[in-house]
Amino acid sequence: MKEFLYTKGKRKYIFCADSKGAELLYNFVQQAMEDKVPFDFMIIGDKSDAFLEHWYSQQKMGTFLYLSGQWEFIKRLKKLALEAGFSEYEMQINIVGQISKKLVCCECYGVNEFIDDDLHLTCKHCGIVLEVSSHYSRRLEAYLGYTSIS
Ligand SMILES: [Zn+2]
Repeated sequence: MKEFLYTKGKRKYIFCADSKGAELLYNFVQQAMEDKVPFDFMIIGDKSDAFLEHWYSQQKMGTFLYLSGQWEFIKRLKKLALEAGFSEYEMQINIVGQISKKLVCCECYGVNEFIDDDLHLTCKHCGIVLEVSSHYSRRLEAYLGYTSIS
């Protein structure tokens, strides 16, 4: 992952955080104030998807988005931002805490959750030992797990 840094020279900044991720953005907010660049800073509590999507879609070209928070929060806001027309190059992401990913079992197609650095795990549905592959299915939003051969 790219380092989470303030990128100078954008037309506008949007800083979005959950309660865990806000602290990291305070420096960026201060920087934007010093640079006299317009920005929005929002700690997302219980804002609806519809509200966020509308807010994102109203932003002008050249707006740069910072997301900071826990994995579930990041996943949700990133998805909404992409749907509203932001590209991956117009945002930076900081994940607080553990990243939980999904792994689809090659035997029973059951979905398992795993933490970033687990290489093997036992399928909780059928009990087989799976190896986490680098194959990621965008459709399933999950990695594919294969039976390990030892
Ligand atoms: Zn399984």
